[in-house]
Formats: sequence, structure tokens, C-alpha cells
Amino acid sequence: MTSTAELERPTTSMRPAAATRPYALIVEDEPSLVELIRYNLIKEGYEVAVATDGEEALLTIEERQPDIVLLDWMLPKLAGIEVARRLRSKAATRNLPIIMLTARTEESDRIRGLDVGADDYMTKPFSMSELTARIRAVMRRIRPALAEDVVVVGDISIDRAAHRVTRNDLEVHLGPTEFRLLDYFIQHPGRVFSREQLLDAVWGSDVYVETRTVDVHIGRLRKALSKGGGEDPIRTVRSAGYALNPG
Ligand code: CA
Repeated sequence: MTSTAELERPTTSMRPAAATRPYALIVEDEPSLVELIRYNLIKEGYEVAVATDGEEALLTIEERQPDIVLLDWMLPKLAGIEVARRLRSKAATRNLPIIMLTARTEESDRIRGLDVGADDYMTKPFSMSELTARIRAVMRRIRPALAEDVVVVGDISIDRAAHRVTRNDLEVHLGPTEFRLLDYFIQHPGRVFSREQLLDAVWGSDVYVETRTVDVHIGRLRKALSKGGGEDPIRTVRSAGYALNPG
């Protein structure tokens, strides 16, 4: 039997809100523009990584797939358009949202950019408010659950800004780990996650936590969600893991 103290300990050293913040990759070789975009994305609640050439971009994406890529056209080593083409040719990154950033203004370039599969295209110079608006639009279209503060799945509603969860309009009180677990499930309703996948996503891959810790927090999440009645929304899939019923 593991004591409660042991189960609680890892939560103090975990990365903040690993599962809730969307992750953006900026691929741009102009330092001042990188800083400007980075600053604004962090303000928008993003976790941000930067690559300064095309090859580094592909490696960074291979390591950990971002939720969105802002991709400069004119890059050292490998042009942005070639990076986009390669991402689109692989199954794992085929649907990765890409916004191309470019100094080129010709209509034919814009068409080429969209042709290789960019989701949107911005011509420099652009304002940061325009960029963040376009990012929001792309994210809403592709990953609705990541872009919105309030997400509803079935009778469960989660408000990220207010850190508030309700079920059937009744408030559900969750600890920080249970909140992140639910948030992660809500981003992928119906999908089954193994305990290891949940550990990586919610606790962070650089933290050592035993997989049975996941079971404990799933148990707490279930209990909290079922307090006001209603069916257990979390499905246990034998030898595979857990899933949130899509409602
Ligand atoms: Ca450039």
C-alpha cells in the first residue's frame, strides 16, 4: 500500500499545467521577430519553442509535436516551403496546423504556400494582434478544445480561465492534478490513453511517478465527477488504459 504522502509528492515538482497549455513552434531566423512573436504567444498562454532554420524545425517537431507551427518562408538550410511539404508528406504531421510567415507579397507565392498545405499565410510586416487572431482562428478550426477557455463534453463543462468544472450545472471540486487529467481527456474525447501516456501528458515526461499514481488520481476524478449523480464518465479499458466518454 502506498501512502498518501508518497502519492502527493510528485505533484509539487511537476511542470506547471503541462496538459492545458497549447504548444507552439516558431520557425524564424530573425531574432527580433522571434522575440516579438514569442512574447505575444506566451502572453496568449502558449508554451513556445523556437527553431532558427528548416532542419532544426523538423528535428524539433520530431522530438515533440507542437499544436501549431509558425513557419518563415526564407530560412537557412531548408526553406519553409520545403519544411511544410515534408510535414505534409508524413502521416504523423499531415494535419499539423501551419501558418506561413513571409516577406514575399506576390499572389503566386501565397498560392504556393497554401498549395503545400499551409493553413494560413501572413505577409510581413504584420501586427501581433493580427497574428494572434489568425492563430486563434486556425486553432479553433483544427483543435477546438485547445483554443477555447470553456469546453463542454456531454454534461461536463470545463472553464480553463476560471479553473472551474461543472457537471449538469453543479460545481465539481477538483485538485490540480485531477483538473489537468480532465482537461487532457476533454481535448480528446473517446480516445483511450495508457497510464504511461497520461503520465507524460499530465505529469510531464521528465518526472518520475509510478503508473499506479495515475489510477489513484483517476479514482479521485471519478469520485468528484459522480458526486452529484450521473454515470461514471470515465471508461476503464482493460489492459489499455482510460478514456472519457464523449457524452
Ligand atoms: Ca527569414
